[in-house]
Amino acid sequence: MTHPLLGLAPLSAARFASIEDRVARLLGTTQDVVIMQGEALLPLEGAIRGTAGPGTTALNVITGPYGQTFGGWLRDCGATVIDLAVPFHTAVKAGQIREALARNPEIGFVSLVHAEAATGNTNPVAEIGAVVREHGALFYLDAVASVGAEPVLVDAWGVDLCVIGAQKAMGGPAGVSAVSVSERAWSRMAANPGAPRRSYLSLLDWKERWVDAGRRALPHAPAQLEMLALEACLAEIEAVGLDTVTARHASAAAATRAGALALGGGLEPYVHDAAEAAPVATTLRAPSGTSASELVARALAADPGVPLSAGGGALAKEMIRVNHYGPDATPGVVRAALTALATALTEQGVPVRLDEALRAAEGAGRR
Ligand SMILES: *Cc1c(COP(=O)(O)O)cnc(C)c1O
Repeated sequence: MTHPLLGLAPLSAARFASIEDRVARLLGTTQDVVIMQGEALLPLEGAIRGTAGPGTTALNVITGPYGQTFGGWLRDCGATVIDLAVPFHTAVKAGQIREALARNPEIGFVSLVHAEAATGNTNPVAEIGAVVREHGALFYLDAVASVGAEPVLVDAWGVDLCVIGAQKAMGGPAGVSAVSVSERAWSRMAANPGAPRRSYLSLLDWKERWVDAGRRALPHAPAQLEMLALEACLAEIEAVGLDTVTARHASAAAATRAGALALGGGLEPYVHDAAEAAPVATTLRAPSGTSASELVARALAADPGVPLSAGGGALAKEMIRVNHYGPDATPGVVRAALTALATALTEQGVPVRLDEALRAAEGAGRR
């Protein structure tokens, strides 16, 4: 076996535990961190099924497609779900959450997505966390699209269940994920007769067989390649510095936004307020009379390397996504994306100003 990916030595329990500890440091938490051997949907679903049940009233905040998915799982667990949906071009405000909690004092669980790569918005989790903590509800956060792109501060924000994946701003693989679990969340799971046990979705299994057993023996063979890749992501972020990595994402987002506005032709940021735009991906509204998926196809034909995609589902006609994930959060990639978009728009008969766009991007990216 000569291929470097083949014939690997087994990943030791000590190494697995050390990767968990590095994820905990990345998230600013002293809580238990469980790394799960699957894409982020695994801990996202496992954490909901572990903590919610027929006695739960959940406030489910919907700022994009993932919030809708969480509502489905919560209802499936038998929880009473109060949806708080905001238009996808905005973020939710802490005041809206405060009002919902005041109207429904029985709420004991709040689910929120930090940043939505699919819609390009980011929510003010620090403020929301303070409101949720004051009310006493369990706070569940999907930080898959925010980790590495902006600060995620689990302990400072009072997050009870924080889920991350490596595949967005961490620049890593999609096959592993992690969740931090507070003592309160563990207690809630232990008391929940419906919490998955002896199941791939079970966090309690990991607690009993791994965390409480002193993390000395892994319950199953770990997904080795993904674990090594996750370790490499963490090493890179630690070497460069998390602040530097998040600053790179913020600059890429600001540059893309400014560049798209300067390009003209009716291209507009999808998220109206720049303060509510996620650093991980910039979403744009295609000019009226054009189709976003057609423009993306033409841009990719002009430059197959640019990280552009059309919005998912119903958004495919109107939304263009510039995914500046990890290694793509650079001025060069932003320039290439704007250039490819300019080519696509020109081909569609939309007049644009590429020189001005590149100048605006450079100026905004430097601030
Ligand atoms: C990307 C993402 C995930 C992971 O889902 P994928 O379908 O694997 O992309 C989960 N939550 C959010 C908010 C995301 O942006």
